[in-house]
Amino acid sequence: MTFTAKYSGRCAADCGDPIAPGDAVEYVDDQLVHEGCLPAPVVERAPRPVCPECFTETAVNGACSCP
Ligand SMILES: [Zn+2]
Ligand SMILES: [Zn+2]
Repeated sequence: MTFTAKYSGRCAADCGDPIAPGDAVEYVDDQLVHEGCLPAPVVERAPRPVCPECFTETAVNGACSCP
Protein backbone atom coordinates (compact mmCIF):
# COMPACT_ATOMS: atom_id res chain seq x y z
CA MET A 1 0.00 0.00 0.00
CA THR A 2 1.56 3.26 -1.03
CA PHE A 3 1.36 6.39 1.00
CA THR A 4 2.88 9.83 0.90
CA ALA A 5 6.19 10.21 2.67
CA LYS A 6 6.09 12.71 5.50
CA TYR A 7 9.80 12.68 6.14
CA SER A 8 12.88 12.45 4.02
CA GLY A 9 14.77 9.21 4.11
CA ARG A 10 16.69 6.69 2.17
CA CYS A 11 15.12 4.27 -0.29
CA ALA A 12 15.90 0.69 0.73
CA ALA A 13 16.08 -0.23 -2.95
CA ASP A 14 19.37 1.60 -3.39
CA CYS A 15 17.93 3.33 -6.43
CA GLY A 16 20.09 6.32 -5.68
CA ASP A 17 17.25 8.72 -5.07
CA PRO A 18 16.56 9.84 -1.54
CA ILE A 19 13.01 9.76 -0.34
CA ALA A 20 11.66 13.27 -0.03
CA PRO A 21 8.53 14.40 1.76
CA GLY A 22 5.64 14.14 -0.67
CA ASP A 23 7.06 11.18 -2.57
CA ALA A 24 4.85 8.15 -3.06
CA VAL A 25 6.42 5.40 -0.98
CA GLU A 26 5.52 1.97 0.31
CA TYR A 27 6.79 -0.65 2.67
CA VAL A 28 8.14 -3.81 1.08
CA ASP A 29 9.29 -6.42 3.56
CA ASP A 30 9.18 -3.72 6.24
CA GLN A 31 11.58 -1.61 4.25
CA LEU A 32 10.63 1.81 3.01
CA VAL A 33 11.04 2.25 -0.73
CA HIS A 34 9.67 4.48 -3.45
CA GLU A 35 6.52 3.27 -5.09
CA GLY A 36 7.65 0.66 -7.62
CA CYS A 37 11.11 0.22 -6.11
CA LEU A 38 12.08 -3.15 -4.72
CA PRO A 39 14.45 -3.42 -1.77
CA ALA A 40 17.79 -4.99 -2.45
CA PRO A 41 17.60 -8.73 -1.82
CA VAL A 42 19.10 -9.93 1.41
CA VAL A 43 22.45 -11.46 0.65
CA GLU A 44 22.46 -15.07 1.67
CA ARG A 45 25.12 -16.29 4.01
CA ALA A 46 28.04 -17.65 2.08
CA PRO A 47 28.64 -21.30 2.86
CA ARG A 48 31.60 -21.88 5.11
CA PRO A 49 34.53 -23.92 3.89
CA VAL A 50 34.38 -27.58 4.75
CA CYS A 51 37.34 -29.23 6.44
CA PRO A 52 38.84 -31.84 4.11
CA GLU A 53 39.67 -34.05 7.10
CA CYS A 54 36.42 -34.30 9.04
CA PHE A 55 34.03 -32.83 6.46
CA THR A 56 32.40 -30.45 8.91
CA GLU A 57 31.77 -26.82 8.15
CA THR A 58 34.44 -24.80 9.83
CA ALA A 59 33.35 -22.17 12.34
CA VAL A 60 33.98 -18.46 11.97
CA ASN A 61 37.28 -18.89 13.76
CA GLY A 62 38.24 -21.77 11.48
CA ALA A 63 37.65 -24.48 14.05
CA CYS A 64 36.26 -27.84 12.98
CA SER A 65 35.65 -31.24 14.53
CA CYS A 66 39.21 -32.47 14.16
CA PRO A 67 40.77 -33.48 17.46
ZN1 LIG B 1 13.71 4.06 -4.73
ZN1 LIG C 1 38.41 -31.01 10.56
